[in-house]
Amino acid sequence: MIPWFRRRMSKPVAEKLDFLLKSQYWGLEQIREYQLERLKKLLDHAWCNVPYYRDLFRKEGLVPADIRTLEDLAKLPVLSKRNLQKSLKELVDERVDVSGLAVNSTGGSTGMPLNFYQDDEYVLWSDAARLRAWRYMVGGTEADLEAVLWGAIRDVGKGLTLKQVLRGVLRERSLMLNTFDLDEAMLKQYLGYYNLFAPPILRGYASSLYYLARYLESHRIEVKKPRAVISSTEVLHPRMREAIERVFGCRVFDSYGCREISQIATECPEHAGLHVVFENQYLELDGNEIVITNLNNYLMPFIRYKVGDLASALDLSPCACGRFSPRLVSLVGRDNDNVELPGGKVINGEFFEFLFFGVPSVIQYQVVYRRSEGQLLVKLHLSEPDASIGDMIRNTMADKYGFTNTAVEYTDSFDKTPTGKLRFVYSVD
Ligand SMILES: [Zn+2]
Repeated sequence: MIPWFRRRMSKPVAEKLDFLLKSQYWGLEQIREYQLERLKKLLDHAWCNVPYYRDLFRKEGLVPADIRTLEDLAKLPVLSKRNLQKSLKELVDERVDVSGLAVNSTGGSTGMPLNFYQDDEYVLWSDAARLRAWRYMVGGTEADLEAVLWGAIRDVGKGLTLKQVLRGVLRERSLMLNTFDLDEAMLKQYLGYYNLFAPPILRGYASSLYYLARYLESHRIEVKKPRAVISSTEVLHPRMREAIERVFGCRVFDSYGCREISQIATECPEHAGLHVVFENQYLELDGNEIVITNLNNYLMPFIRYKVGDLASALDLSPCACGRFSPRLVSLVGRDNDNVELPGGKVINGEFFEFLFFGVPSVIQYQVVYRRSEGQLLVKLHLSEPDASIGDMIRNTMADKYGFTNTAVEYTDSFDKTPTGKLRFVYSVD
């Protein structure tokens, strides 16, 4: 432990992290007792202060006292993304005036933009859980430097100055590269910094890590080997994992979460499923559908939230790593492609999620790149007709990528995969 960096963490995060570093080795019985206690407290709060859940309990003829075990929670209906879109106001603690609060938002894994609120306690628990997952579970501490391949549209094209790099390295212990607008010059510049600082941990979107691995391999570029690579935000396909491990010479740790409820589960050094962050999330499988109750966000409780992702099983057997928390097995879903435009420019699949941030009339979208025609088709389901959104998309593609063959179609019919999953960004020949 390097004390100077621990001092940089806020005291509440440091305390929660210390708690999580102990609780991760609790037995299954203790885990379930803890979750039940937290769940009961949350349900009481939802019944007293959150109109949406009060109505839901009444409609089902239930009161919180009817939920006596963790399994009883399944008596309540799930919270769908559509419920979230329609009932934002009713889902918030009625004692709180949200007009002055920052709203968080996402396109989510099904391409359906959502708004939601999160309180301070939720944020602290989320921060602590991320430090445990992304530093300690891969054999490090919060003082380790982490290289991050991420994306945010507001920073596209800003470049990478030494000042920005140093600030990130010293303050956040992270070396950031925006992969939305990745081009070769920027990548080469980043790799220079990467080799200079030699971060022990590399984390990023699965597709960005895979792209980087393929790039390094095909250009025969050597980089300093990290201790661990962490894949987050997208599904890590076996072919991607294999290529990333080969190029970076270390194991890949898969990590699963979403913006609505943050970190959900992470791989341990055994790589035998993803351990659920049980202190923050109570996770159920409804068939193969992942259903989550977040235990910390009292401002806007997510109770039995259907995230939109699938897993084949929840393994309750003890893990060889010494942890007893349940493990998600064979996570599927969240399937975005990166779109490769003529000339080699790559648009990260998450780009469109950010593009539709704060555009409330977009109910659903799907983006299909047709390689043979060189055309990008953006399908939109809007709550009210608005031709300006089509212009905004075409202009953004032209300005940011010099790409002019973008078609916009207004529809409520979207293509699904054979397993019924809606992929919202993909390419076809
Ligand atoms: Zn384990």
